[in-house]
Amino acid sequence: MKFTDFHLHDDVMEGIDAIGYEKPTPVQEMAIQPIIENKDVIACAQTGTGKTAAYVLPLLHNILSEGGNHDKIKALIISPTRELAIQIDQQLEGFSYFAGVSSVAVYGGGTGTAFNIERKALAEGADVIVATPGRLISHLNMGYVKLDKLNTLILDEADRMLDMGFLPDIQKIISFLPRKRQTLMFSATMPQDIRKLARNVMDKPIEINLAVSKPAENVLQAAYLVFDKQKNKLIKTLIEGKKELKSILIFSATKAGVKDLEHDLKKMKFNVKAIHSDLEQDVRKEVLQDFKNRKTQILVATDIVSRGIDIDNISLIINYNVPQDAEDYVHRVGRTARAEKTGVAITLINQKEIRSFKRIEEFIGNEIQKLPLPEHLGDAPAYEIKRRPGGNRKYKPSNFRHKKRPGRKS
Ligand code: AMP
Repeated sequence: MKFTDFHLHDDVMEGIDAIGYEKPTPVQEMAIQPIIENKDVIACAQTGTGKTAAYVLPLLHNILSEGGNHDKIKALIISPTRELAIQIDQQLEGFSYFAGVSSVAVYGGGTGTAFNIERKALAEGADVIVATPGRLISHLNMGYVKLDKLNTLILDEADRMLDMGFLPDIQKIISFLPRKRQTLMFSATMPQDIRKLARNVMDKPIEINLAVSKPAENVLQAAYLVFDKQKNKLIKTLIEGKKELKSILIFSATKAGVKDLEHDLKKMKFNVKAIHSDLEQDVRKEVLQDFKNRKTQILVATDIVSRGIDIDNISLIINYNVPQDAEDYVHRVGRTARAEKTGVAITLINQKEIRSFKRIEEFIGNEIQKLPLPEHLGDAPAYEIKRRPGGNRKYKPSNFRHKKRPGRKS
């Protein structure tokens, strides 16, 4: 299939050429046509599949085909995190370079000045608003956002939004929108609460199901069994002197862990920065930008950047801890090997995390290769689950999937 098959508006085609996409990805093949036809679409697609362009391209086509002024809000894209909102807005700007479609990003954080700039932009109107739920509601409550001409609502990373406790916010935002509209929902997973939300806010949606909740096949996955005190030395051994590893993303379970690791890697003279929710929005943006531009070689992060964030060509992902649930693992590993490039993802497993890691292996249906620790680091823990005293508890898949993580932000 080719992009020309969709008969997209000339200005959109020019944007696609300028960005250099040659052919649609599978989710684009399935989503673009029904979106052009104004149908509701619910798509189960992971980040890295090209899902953003799958809705941005037909959205721009529809806005351009409709014509009219660029001061009436025609589409609203809601994203769970600021980082994803910024990234969607950047893609929108990239594609609409030739089209002159206007957009405003409304994502909170920053200063009072930022709020005022958003307020002015919202009051003046724009074709597309990209927003995080809480910040948009602050603006909606003040009465100057006119959504009566809205045609399309897009909920991106819907599962993440529900995980983060945004359901009431989403329902409130929807109460401001015209009933007759197109609603598009993109989600990495399709648990019951997402289906319920879809039934309530969508009209006979077309279902697109791509996600096999497994890491892309071109990611080389491996793991090391290590004691905690060996971890930093192992990382040093893995990356020292490897100039070809231009971008390394390390996930740590907690903010404190992120800060400690940044500190230790700095001491080892690595070019490293950290990102977590204690940082001011401007700093977060800058840190992310420096990593994208390859000014920073190593980014240490909480999973704030694990979902949705589009950073190309990450050479190596390291999970400093085994992720809490299997889907987080899939999302993190999805940061490498984007859009058909190959990548490497390494997980460090300590003796207490073996059980969780086995669950991940069951979830993805694959045993991940365990590499021997370099000799100078000493002995590693054995890969076996220690039986708990007095119990023969077996792992059941239903124990760990779709765990609620209320209000978790980083
Ligand atoms: P997403 O799943 O939207 O985060 O996109 C993942 C990456 O794939 C982004 O870097 C996009 O720029 C890229 N991408 C999206 N569509 C295409 C395409 N048709 N051809 C090549 N790359 C694409």
